[in-house]
Amino acid sequence: MASEETEHKLEQVIKHKNCAGCGACILFSNGSSKMIPTPHGPVPDLSSGEFTQEALEVCPGIGISYPELYETHYGNLPENLLYGHIQKVRIGHSASEGIRNKSASGGIITATLIYLLQKGYIDGAVCVKQGMPEPLEASSFIARSEEEIKGSMQSVYIPVSTLDRLKDFKPGEKYAMVCLPEQSAALRKLQSLKHPAALQVQYILGPYTGTALYPAAIHAFLRSKRISKKDPVTSLKWREGDWPGHLEIKTRSGKVVTSKKVYYNYLIPFFITHTSLRSMDFVNEFADLSVGDAWSPEYESQGKGFSVFITRTKKMESIISDMNDQHLINAEDVAEEKSIAMHGHMLDFKKRGSYLRNRMRAFFGHPVPDHGYRPIYISFSRKLTEMVISFILLLAGNRFSRAIMTIIPEKMIGPAFNYMRLRWKKISKPAKRKGLDTYQIKRI
Ligand SMILES: Cc1cc2nc3c(=O)[nH]c(=O)nc-3n(C[C@H](O)[C@H](O)[C@H](O)COP(=O)(O)OP(=O)(O)OC[C@H]3O[C@@H](n4cnc5c(N)ncnc54)[C@H](O)[C@@H]3O)c2cc1C
Repeated sequence: MASEETEHKLEQVIKHKNCAGCGACILFSNGSSKMIPTPHGPVPDLSSGEFTQEALEVCPGIGISYPELYETHYGNLPENLLYGHIQKVRIGHSASEGIRNKSASGGIITATLIYLLQKGYIDGAVCVKQGMPEPLEASSFIARSEEEIKGSMQSVYIPVSTLDRLKDFKPGEKYAMVCLPEQSAALRKLQSLKHPAALQVQYILGPYTGTALYPAAIHAFLRSKRISKKDPVTSLKWREGDWPGHLEIKTRSGKVVTSKKVYYNYLIPFFITHTSLRSMDFVNEFADLSVGDAWSPEYESQGKGFSVFITRTKKMESIISDMNDQHLINAEDVAEEKSIAMHGHMLDFKKRGSYLRNRMRAFFGHPVPDHGYRPIYISFSRKLTEMVISFILLLAGNRFSRAIMTIIPEKMIGPAFNYMRLRWKKISKPAKRKGLDTYQIKRI
């Protein structure tokens, strides 16, 4: 395929907001393109570089067939089609209080990366850090020391490209990467194509990923906190303080504005990324280690961070088991059903909700990512629930609603949104949970 044709297809991906901003296509641009920032996250610069057809094969915005990739990477389809391939599920945290307190949930990703580096299993780890190059921006980088890994603790909730970083790998070195679900799938696809740098990645560690926000969310938050544009931000932390943490923004004049995680969630319907709405992967099904927050009153009541995490490959299971034996992490096995119950709402949002949302978009003639499968059965009440969700998101996502939202002080809209969110969760629970435990798929 001529490069103009490939570029035209990539242009369509960007135009229809299907670009996940992962950076995989950059590896097939003859070394001359790069990711550039836009209000909708990073996208490839199509004006430079000549893109080859492989750029389309690895593009999550066009679609990566999960059933095909399950077979290529794991050898078969998973038994549990909600959760992917599983060696073990655990709940726990880093044994280091310093890591546990400063990480997003229990510090499992950070502790594991440090272990891999100390043991010499890797030479570096691709991590993501808020504040690079500017306080309101975030970038990926290669961490080569314990200090650098610790410096990138916590979650970054705006889109960041990671796979373009593969072009900075040194020949002969081994790496770990922290990837969001679409990035993990694209990286496995790259590995299946025997891309040399992708084959240098020995371990993928991946957060569960429910929702990410467009960068405009931060500006809206600052306006609702009455922070003047003349008072620039000097630091931003998404999950500072005791678990589950709060958003903390500092400005040059010395102001410190904060919002509890459960309150700043109000930004989600207004600024949720399109990738969050279209991805069918919540639990990072192609990571060797997938990590989320252990949302359950049993753990939340303790205040300190707890992660729920899945090992998906034998080599990662052996590493986590060694770390547990050496008391570098404190973790207990947990039944799959118990851990699934912690995230039933979000599993449904992705596994059935994204499918329905994609179908609706396709119905109106818009291209959508093709994941290569569909749920076999979705009840009528679930379909109706999705219409309500999509209508709310459509209303909230327009400029007018966003502008109104910034007029309302965060201390009012935050708690009000949290109340409505909990009410909605309760009301929609029967429709959202019905049939989830017997979730089955059909290849398409
Ligand atoms: C956008 C996003 C949405 C999420 N949604 C949910 C959810 O709905 N439910 C849930 O249970 N958990 C969710 N998580 C996961 C959760 O926030 C924690 O990341 C996870 O529990 C790991 O915690 P930890 O303490 O082990 O991580 P830490 O030890 O703090 O390490 C976090 C690691 O993740 C890397 N990282 C941070 N942000 C990104 C990013 N954007 N892209 C790639 N790497 C990154 C950092 O470099 C660091 O190495 C989300 C994470 C992200 C980034």
